[in-house]
Amino acid sequence: MIQVVGHKNPDSDSICSALVAAELLKARGLEAKAVRQGELNRETQHILAQAGVDQPEMCTGVAGEKVWLVDYSDLAQAPDDIADAEIVGIVDHHRLGDVMTVNPLEAWIWPVGCTCTIMFNLFKMENTEVTRELATLMMSAILSDTVGFASPTCTQKDKDAVAELAPLAGVEDLDLFIKELLIAKTDIQGLSAAQLVDKDLKAYPFNDRDVVVGQIELATLEQVDSMIDELNADLQRRCDEEGLAMAALMLTDITTSTTRLLYKGEWNAILDQFAENDFLMMENTLSRKKQGWPWLQKVLA
Ligand code: MG
Ligand code: MG
Ligand code: MG
Repeated sequence: MIQVVGHKNPDSDSICSALVAAELLKARGLEAKAVRQGELNRETQHILAQAGVDQPEMCTGVAGEKVWLVDYSDLAQAPDDIADAEIVGIVDHHRLGDVMTVNPLEAWIWPVGCTCTIMFNLFKMENTEVTRELATLMMSAILSDTVGFASPTCTQKDKDAVAELAPLAGVEDLDLFIKELLIAKTDIQGLSAAQLVDKDLKAYPFNDRDVVVGQIELATLEQVDSMIDELNADLQRRCDEEGLAMAALMLTDITTSTTRLLYKGEWNAILDQFAENDFLMMENTLSRKKQGWPWLQKVLA
């Protein structure tokens, strides 16, 4: 049995690509199942409801198992017992991480906007049927990761994949489909500060220190106006409890590509230079991978 597992703090791509990759492996005649490393966010719940697909089971460990990693290749984002598993496949669209394998593996790492874009091309290469359910999962993940094609991470391959997937998913009004997806993506009503920070938090080992950078995608920054103190307190708590050099949170207005950065930790003073009246605004910043984290690495180096 191959376990297909997306990254910790799962986003829609890491859930959808795991479900889809497990189906591709089954079509090859292998035994496979998708698993998840955490609770689904509201956008992913919306996608699975639209597709009519059940959520993957929770990952309870991968020791002694064969695994495929989807949407990451970093140990920090893998199950804690990954060292005792055999990684036999990787499908990803991030920089190559630090996983090592004992045996040759199947690896598909493309600089595109979404893991599901690669998955769709694998289905095509292998002449494997894309059902309505699978098409819905893949096009939703692509539109999520590329924020409806607006992200600088979006490539022509992502747009081409959605153009082919929409009819297979039975989607006639793409604009409406995107609008409903983005409403689910930016729905943060009732979430606590800790839940918001955790929602899309990534660990980035940097200069031999531990750093985390989260991101909350919003329809307007006003959605979190009343929570700034609590969010800052939660970032400080993580620094204290986990010995982090920095805990940062990108508050991103996806309609204007404007990000406000919250940050705590030993490296505060470096970032304070870029702030005005406690506001560190990053104009034209939608993507953590392509814009937010590269800028942070440059100024913190
Ligand atoms: Mg992801
Ligand atoms: Mg992704
Ligand atoms: Mg993301």
